[in-house]
Amino acid sequence: MHARRCRAYNKNVSTSILNADLHCHSVVSDGTLTPEELAVRAKANGVELWALTDHDEIGGQDRALAAAHANGMKYLTGTEISVTFANKTVHIVGLGFDAHDAQLVAGLHQTRGGRSERAQEMSEGLAKVGIHGAYEGALKYVGNPELISRTHFARFLVEAGVCQDTPEVFRRFLTEGHPGFVPHRWASLKDAVQWIVQAKGMAIIAHPARYGFTPNEEFALFTEFKNYGGEGVEVITGSHTPAEYVVYADMAQELDLFASRGSDFHSPNESRIDLGTLPWLPGQLTPVWEALAHRIQ
Ligand code: AMP
Ligand code: MN
Ligand code: MN
Ligand code: MN
Repeated sequence: MHARRCRAYNKNVSTSILNADLHCHSVVSDGTLTPEELAVRAKANGVELWALTDHDEIGGQDRALAAAHANGMKYLTGTEISVTFANKTVHIVGLGFDAHDAQLVAGLHQTRGGRSERAQEMSEGLAKVGIHGAYEGALKYVGNPELISRTHFARFLVEAGVCQDTPEVFRRFLTEGHPGFVPHRWASLKDAVQWIVQAKGMAIIAHPARYGFTPNEEFALFTEFKNYGGEGVEVITGSHTPAEYVVYADMAQELDLFASRGSDFHSPNESRIDLGTLPWLPGQLTPVWEALAHRIQ
């Protein structure tokens, strides 16, 4: 019984008690704050170890590292890669990689490609239901021309008074079966995990409760992910309910995965969970930051 249980029993439980926030977004993807503003906010909320994880992008990493150090925080490099698995979009967080790794840089560039065209098609879909100028409207919120996302459309539709808030926009317009939804093929699970791993980082399944997979699909996701070299799962995230913390804490133990903690903060006005304010990781889990100690800057 099991290396896993022995390790859990022997490990120094206090390593779980660290205010690590290893998932958030800046204006380099679909957040509303700059890397510097996020660092100040994280520090004010007591974050000790921070990672900026922009979607499909690492253009903010040098600024985030400098801002972390300027605010007396430790830092792990980060990103959140969009993947297509079983016809759904899955997010894979990468942490602690070499941000100048050529294969990772190229893979992310390739993953971002096609976002503009997809956005034009989303705009055409919205025009058909009488919402005009959505592409141009969304662009006003975009900080990085290579990274126009559904979030930017959501902000425009709220501004235009079509919806009250961004969850309503997603519910009515931007998810499967609705007029602004355009199916898109992102990176493969295998490529995303391998880009991160060969760049000396750790691949982590982001917010697993969000995907709505059947138990069989979820099992396939975790199995393939591990086979490709993935090692971590987000347990404590702004996207999970307390009941889901328990489900995925069990899963982390069962599958011998390292556990991560991150708010998924995007904006002071939109995010339910602020930087650094989540519950601690359960003490029986081995935190990703223990396995990545040698990659912390
Ligand atoms: P995209 O990468 O363009 O498909 O946009 C995905 C982003 O949309 C996610 O990272 C979230 O920030 C946001 N998002 C997805 N679903 C929702 C939702 N139901 N409510 C609010 N934001 C959402
Ligand atoms: Mn996002
Ligand atoms: Mn995500
Ligand atoms: Mn995210």
